[in-house]
Amino acid sequence: MIEHLLRENIRRLKPYSTARDDFSGDGISVWLDANESPYNHSLADLSEVSLNRYPDPHQRRLKAHLARLKGVRPEQMFIGGAGSDEAIDLVYRMFCEPGRENVVAISPTYGVYAVAADINNVEYREVSLTEDFQINVDALLNACDSSTKLVWICSPNNPTSNAFPREVIEDILQKFSGIVVVDEAYIDFSDQGSMLPLLDRYPRLIVMQTLSKAWGMASLRLGMAFASEEIAAVMAMVKYPYNVNGPTQAVVERLTSNSRGEQIAEIISERRRLEEELPKMPCVVKVCPSDANFLLVKMTDANGIYDYLLRHGALVRNRTKVRGCNGCLRITVGTPEENTRLLSLLANL
Ligand SMILES: *Cc1c(COP(=O)(O)O)cnc(C)c1O
Repeated sequence: MIEHLLRENIRRLKPYSTARDDFSGDGISVWLDANESPYNHSLADLSEVSLNRYPDPHQRRLKAHLARLKGVRPEQMFIGGAGSDEAIDLVYRMFCEPGRENVVAISPTYGVYAVAADINNVEYREVSLTEDFQINVDALLNACDSSTKLVWICSPNNPTSNAFPREVIEDILQKFSGIVVVDEAYIDFSDQGSMLPLLDRYPRLIVMQTLSKAWGMASLRLGMAFASEEIAAVMAMVKYPYNVNGPTQAVVERLTSNSRGEQIAEIISERRRLEEELPKMPCVVKVCPSDANFLLVKMTDANGIYDYLLRHGALVRNRTKVRGCNGCLRITVGTPEENTRLLSLLANL
């Protein structure tokens, strides 16, 4: 009854579907669907947090800590309390005129960029990656016109799992005159270095990172964006005033004071084990080279194998309907025990 009152783009909206929409968790014992860290934290005593007071709207203390950790200046930083998804929406609201301007993204890539474009009524143009999931820079630039404000690069890319060479990203930064966003959610698992040291060289570069993956805090919903001080100052103006809650501000410093180096090393060594073992299975056609904490695996029968794993309590992400990923399942690297369980299920298929 309210349909005629809705904005047209919202009436037509196809919402983002998360890895967890369909699963309450009943019967699942092996969670390899959402690229989370399998390692939990203990939330020590929170009694000193003043829940009755508003939190610091500028997250001064937290920002100083994270900036030191990342080797940037606090003035180059935005912190989001709804994950990277908040930063993604924010850049649309800052740079793109609804109904008039457009953005260009690689395809396949992370689905939130497209949904956030739809919500903001911004045209979303997709440029296919090559057969081996590389960026065709000429095709990408050809898709841009004078109304193109943003280019989205996810590296390492979800769901293809590969990182793009830094020279390719720099080539785009030099040739495209708008904003280039590089989403580095999985950068801690990659040999390819972060773009953060190049922030001062490229004033139109925005780098996004998150505590949801290597840092093992997906539940806190803390996302970060790094950019020139000019861009970061606008982000600070446009964001919701108290966008990062007090308990989160209070615990992150403590939870990030120890490096995640050992856990990351274990996940990478487990990824290598899966990369070696999976191709031996008759049901596996191909394992794509990965720079992340997950593998894109082409199967003989993706839907059948997805259902079989689910029936046996192992949840992975079915990507067979995604363009360029026909026949593929996306499998997060879990604990050694979870990975062994996955391999034995596939061996007994
Ligand atoms: C998981 C993921 C994120 C992180 O999202 P949060 O909202 O920070 O949890 C960002 N980008 C990509 C490509 C991802 O896969």
